[in-house]
This record gives sequence, structure tokens and C-alpha cells, in this order.
Amino acid sequence: MRNPTLKSIPLLGAALIVSAVAVSAPTKPTFRQEREINACNASPEHLVHGDKYAVCKNEKWQPVIVNLHNGATTVLKVLKEYEGMPQSTQVADRALRNASLMTGKHREYTSHEVLWTSGSAVGVHVSGYHYVLPDTPPKHAKCGGELKIHEKLQQYYCPACNQLVSSHDAMKVNRVNEWAMVDLTSEKATSAALPDGWLTQVGNDFTGGVFWFARLEPCAPSCQATQKLTLFSVNTTTGAKMTEFQVDVPYREKGPGYRTAVSASGKTLLLVEYDELQDKTRGFLQNPGVSALVVDVVAKSVRRMDALMTTYGFALDEKHDRVFLGSNQSAKLVVRKLSTGDLIKQWSIPGGLAHLSLSADASKLFVFTKGEFQVVETIKYTTVTKVAVKTLYPGVDKWMTADRVITTTDGLRALTPPMIRAELGPWGVPDPKSGFRVFLLP
Ligand SMILES: [Zn+2]
Repeated sequence: MRNPTLKSIPLLGAALIVSAVAVSAPTKPTFRQEREINACNASPEHLVHGDKYAVCKNEKWQPVIVNLHNGATTVLKVLKEYEGMPQSTQVADRALRNASLMTGKHREYTSHEVLWTSGSAVGVHVSGYHYVLPDTPPKHAKCGGELKIHEKLQQYYCPACNQLVSSHDAMKVNRVNEWAMVDLTSEKATSAALPDGWLTQVGNDFTGGVFWFARLEPCAPSCQATQKLTLFSVNTTTGAKMTEFQVDVPYREKGPGYRTAVSASGKTLLLVEYDELQDKTRGFLQNPGVSALVVDVVAKSVRRMDALMTTYGFALDEKHDRVFLGSNQSAKLVVRKLSTGDLIKQWSIPGGLAHLSLSADASKLFVFTKGEFQVVETIKYTTVTKVAVKTLYPGVDKWMTADRVITTTDGLRALTPPMIRAELGPWGVPDPKSGFRVFLLP
């Protein structure tokens, strides 16, 4: 029904009011740029609020909260400067650093990432290193000899080789994590310790008010086919741990490189391994091949299903028991049953794919290919709208798949880098003078 007014003309007065409304609606839904945000120098890295706020960083590394509904921005201080933030151990001068490390209490916080916001508070993952004294005297990697502490230099040395050994090599260095909540009204932070180790930031469950993390449990030197993955959630306003459990996942020598998503209800987590083609048909991951892991948070269980090479796009639809996976290298989009992994539908995406997302009711799938933004209806899986990238980003025929797109959970907006034409040809590169663009989804 391209033009509803044609059918309305013979109808009576009441229907004419309806037709007056209908005539102002566009006949074909399209992607429309709502605003350009220049308060940052890169696009946001995480979905930090369901629908209203995004957080990016400016050139001074200050976080900026952007109200997506009206474009208003709030610039924060550099995060480590807030009172109450976990602080690195202070040493008066460089010469005292070794002595500080030797206390076994030395901590250095090196990373602060905003993962959640309410608009007036932010939740921050603070991570860094804790230098721990080994239980038994460490051995020299070069000769195997036992290291001793040089009392004057306060540093390990090898008597056999007559050589100093750096604290980084001699001491145990633990990765430490905290969740800090900064109240922007009082300008004060409170923090709670998170488990040690390298944490994967899985994402927000905005319904449950928690953020999910994952940690692969080391298995070396006797790794088998599977490895333990610990999943835990923390309350976004306090950092208190809410849930924790373990599942078995395929062991990958070089790490799985998970890309992750949390369903709207918070009951399903998706972890998709990253793999690339090493020849025309297969990737590097074998037995099993590249996997999508669907975690049922209630049952504390995991289901493995086949994923694709370079899965840049994925979306969860719990209500209709579906998961959508889109690949750049295999230029394919597949729909599987979430509960079984069975294939429902697949089709090809000429030119490769960058991102996928769903409307709130999952009736529309938004497909961001390298050359087009598409809308696919999800009953018969037919493409109902296509907009060439070059009409949205003048001079840009194709954009890079690695560029990040974030869509809000209400399915109304997409945040993209501000692509401009590259000097060498008609493909897109992020505009270094701008932060990001906000598109209204059809
Ligand atoms: Zn030695």
C-alpha cells in the first residue's frame, strides 16, 4: 500500500481524518540522520543505557554523557580524579618504586571504562595490576637459579648470573578489577572489588540492573577440549556481585576473542567466537569450528551452535526463539533457533556485513552491510527497505566492517562513526574532527 490516501477518498468523514494522518507519514520507511555529536573524538564503545544516553570520550580523555533525545552533553572529569576512586599506590620518586613493589601491596590502576549510566551517575570498570610477593623464591628464567632480594636496591637479583631481574618478571602480577560508581551530583565515587583476572565485558542487563562479566579460567599446562568460563553479574549502582556460575566452553589456544550481547530480558547471554578464513572454506578454529555460545542465565547452562567467520553482526530474539548471525567474510546471514541451534533460514549479503539489530518487537531486522542499510521483515525474511551508504555518507560507497555501530535497545536509534570519504578512494574513514552520528531507524 504505497499511498493509503487513494483508498481513503471514497470513505466518509471519519475516515478522512485517518487519511489526513496517513498522508503525512512517509510511504517508505527510511533511515534518517537525527544529529551529529561533536563533543567527542570517537564514537561510543559500549551500550551504557537502554535508550537515552551514550558515553564517549573527548580529546582530553574526559567521558562525555550524551542525551540522545535532545543532544545535550555533560562532560565529566578524568575518571581517576574523582574522590573515592581506587587509587594507584603513590611513590614519592622513582627510586622508591622497587621498595613499594616489594611490600606486596603495590597497585597500579591503568584503565577506567564507563560501562553504565543513569544520566546522573556512571558505573566504571577500573582495572590494573597488583604486584604480589611470590610464596616461594622466584627462579631466574635465564639460568633457573633462585633469585634473592637486593636489600639496598630493593629488587630481585640472580646471584649466579650477577644480574638484576625486573620486578615484573620476578613477582606475581595479578590483574585487579573494581566497579566504581560516580555520583555526578556529589562528584564522589564509591567502589567495590571485582574478581581478579582478565575480564570480558559481556554487557548490561538493563532490565535487571546488572552488568555481566566473563572470565576464562586458566587451564595450562594441561588444557583439554573444554575450558571453564566463569560468568558473573554485578549490580550497576553498587558493584555488589549478584550471580556467579561456570559453564564449559571450547578451549582455544589463542583465546576465543568473544563478541557479546545480552538479551532484552537479561535471561540470555550470547558469546560469539571470532574466526577468520585461512583458505576459501575454513577458519583457524577446529573441533568444534567457530562457535556461538548461548548462555541461559536462569538454568545456568550453555548451548553451542555453529557461528560464521568474522561474525560482526548478531541479534537475539527470545520471544520468537531466534538468533541472527551475520558474517562479513562469508557474506551470509543465518537465523537459528535459540533453543536448539537448528537452522531456520539463511541468505547472502553481497559485499559483507557490519552490524545487525532488531526493532523492539523484533518484527524488523536492521542490516548494516558495507554498502547499504537494510530493513528486513522477520516473518518471511524479505528486504523491505534499502538505503545506499553513499546517500547517508556523501562520497562514501563502502564503509569498513570494523567500524562500530551501536543500536539502542528500544530499536529506535543507531549510533555510527561519522564516516567521510578516504583520501585514496570512495570508501569511508571516521572523521577525526567529529564524534558520532545518531540515526533514527525506520
Ligand atoms: Zn641467573
